[in-house]
Amino acid sequence: METDIGHGIASVEPNRPMIAPVIAPPRRIGDVGPSVSFEFFPPKTATAEQQLWQTIGRVAPVGPAFVSVTYGAGGSTREHTHNTLLRIRRETALKPAAHLTCVGTSRAEVHEIANRYWAADIRHIVALRGDPPADVAGFAPHPDGYRHAADLVAGLSRVAPFEISVAAFPEVHPEARSPQADLDNLKRKIDAGATRAITQFFFDATVYLRFRDRARAAGIGVPIVPGILPVTDFVQMTKFAARCGTSVPPWLAEQFTGLEGDPEMRRLVGAAVAAELCRVLQSHGADEFHFYTLNRAELSLAICRMIGARGAAVAAATMR
Ligand SMILES: Cc1cc2nc3c(=O)[nH]c(=O)nc-3n(C[C@H](O)[C@H](O)[C@H](O)COP(=O)(O)OP(=O)(O)OC[C@H]3O[C@@H](n4cnc5c(N)ncnc54)[C@H](O)[C@@H]3O)c2cc1C
Repeated sequence: METDIGHGIASVEPNRPMIAPVIAPPRRIGDVGPSVSFEFFPPKTATAEQQLWQTIGRVAPVGPAFVSVTYGAGGSTREHTHNTLLRIRRETALKPAAHLTCVGTSRAEVHEIANRYWAADIRHIVALRGDPPADVAGFAPHPDGYRHAADLVAGLSRVAPFEISVAAFPEVHPEARSPQADLDNLKRKIDAGATRAITQFFFDATVYLRFRDRARAAGIGVPIVPGILPVTDFVQMTKFAARCGTSVPPWLAEQFTGLEGDPEMRRLVGAAVAAELCRVLQSHGADEFHFYTLNRAELSLAICRMIGARGAAVAAATMR
């Protein structure tokens, strides 16, 4: 849980650039570490599936609060998402969370999918509006479908008492009328029944801290979990960032300049950058992190280690 409500810099002096925060020393072995969760996308090939299952096997000992599986644009991965979640439920002790979007789906279909999840003992849904497939311009709701994620949250809450997480945008969702309208929207999603917001990825801790302050001031009291993207492919990341409104600071581009042919060095830099971001956030009270793994374990695991999320089993073994 975050404990420094109202303590962030924005509430002190909103227009002043952030003073470099003091980074806390790494957690000691045996300390209770932060809570972490991992996001995967559903594999489409046998090789990708094998890689995902290796990844799941490697992250499991960290003891994540949950692992989530995305839902492809336009619902394109519906069956892959469903099958991956069922296999996680069946074959591991992890708590799976199903991403579910409104795109191209009627309310009745959404309810049917949700009922299938509930019946399969999948009790956590990441409820999203979703984006249309790449070749379709702009989001248009299904004629009988939900238009906004807040409506989806309300609908899901009527299907069953799911745990519901929603998306939040520290740098404002690209389609929002204004930052305030976007914050009002987040509040609607929470008021409709969501109990956690997971942010879009970002690279500037100040952006998150100011957003968290504004959310708290707006009466949003649920955890606002920073979404962390460990960067390995800088060029691909800038394309994602352009689409979702994440700004890429010049210093980050500089870190990756000249590393185009050196994937190993990129991984080391990516892990170091993300770990530093997490540790700055920790020093401001953040104690939950959601990792966009892109189905790779290595970087997220390195970061977890650096921020003290080692998992109870690992910590206990090291204590002996
Ligand atoms: C953690 C996380 C996980 C994600 N997982 C997936 C995934 O699995 N599959 C996928 O396709 N996409 C995923 N996305 C992307 C997400 O679907 C897109 O960013 C989408 O454009 C917005 O989704 P939302 O749930 O925030 O929508 P909403 O909360 O509905 O907001 C969308 C836009 O509409 C505006 N808005 C909302 N309500 C109103 C209103 N009443 N009047 C006017 N404007 C309004 C908002 O301000 C915002 O600009 C994820 C994003 C995050 C952060």
